[in-house]
Amino acid sequence: MIPCDKCNARSIIYQKYSGRHLCSHHFEEDVHRKVREVLRPYRIFGKPCRIGVAVSGGKDSTSLLCILHSLFSDREDVELIAISIDEGIEGYRSGTLDAARSVAKRLNLDHVVRSFKDVYDVTTDEMALQDHKQGPCTFCGVLRRNLLNRTARELGADALATGHNLDDEAQTVMLNYLKGDIDRLYRLRPRRVLEGMVPRIKPLRRVPEKEVAIYAMTHDLPMDFSSCPYITRAIRQEVKSTLNEFEAKHPGTRYSIMRGFDRILDLQAPSESYQVVPCTLCGEPSSNGICASCKLLEKIRGIQGV
Ligand code: SF4
Repeated sequence: MIPCDKCNARSIIYQKYSGRHLCSHHFEEDVHRKVREVLRPYRIFGKPCRIGVAVSGGKDSTSLLCILHSLFSDREDVELIAISIDEGIEGYRSGTLDAARSVAKRLNLDHVVRSFKDVYDVTTDEMALQDHKQGPCTFCGVLRRNLLNRTARELGADALATGHNLDDEAQTVMLNYLKGDIDRLYRLRPRRVLEGMVPRIKPLRRVPEKEVAIYAMTHDLPMDFSSCPYITRAIRQEVKSTLNEFEAKHPGTRYSIMRGFDRILDLQAPSESYQVVPCTLCGEPSSNGICASCKLLEKIRGIQGV
């Protein structure tokens, strides 16, 4: 038995990047500390607030819900509402939605489910059958972000929490460096507030994916390993493999990437190039008068002949 470095209980994880063995109690304490550190600068939890939590039903989002519930269940002025989006993907989404429902129920939290079919009158399966240059992920991702924001705003949420973990964030930063997409990098800025957009927070951005998985297992959360039939992440997958190799050889690489990214954002004056105006078709926030969702919906309806 390998003992925990903080007590003598049996360790359940070795953190290569910190050089510590941790038992289940101290592992959970460490995860909660990282999440608290991410949330501190937002200052939203210092006053009454309502947080929408995007819950797809996968391990990241269900762990996120569980962690936020543990941190704030004794605060009557902090309200958590789980929000799930049903994109309409046969044989995939219904299973993850069941997982989201069961975790929200277990934690006794309200759970709101909105569907593409009800709101946009089209499903991801239907979009995938059309002949577009962009794959289904382009449509699905844009519409899901739009619907999450709209739902959180309608619920009066002060923030929308998503389950992006450290691995996701480091991959996204590297991808945007590789593409030279500085505007998109700037949009990842944690504290950016735009008219009509519910502020996004990513409480797990300092928690490695492996630790989120261990958290999910130790809290008996549903572990659904199915993946969406449309997933195509060729470049992201390459970046992921490369970062995994770096992390194995040089523990702490992902933390270094995020530290460097945060320092660059602190040094740079904010770009004024990204303005927000209401979309003339639906009223949602847009950069040039028609939001990305309406542009995509026009394409879809054009092909459907609606
Ligand atoms: Fe939608 Fe693509 Fe994600 Fe599937 S993989 S849920 S199509 S964004």
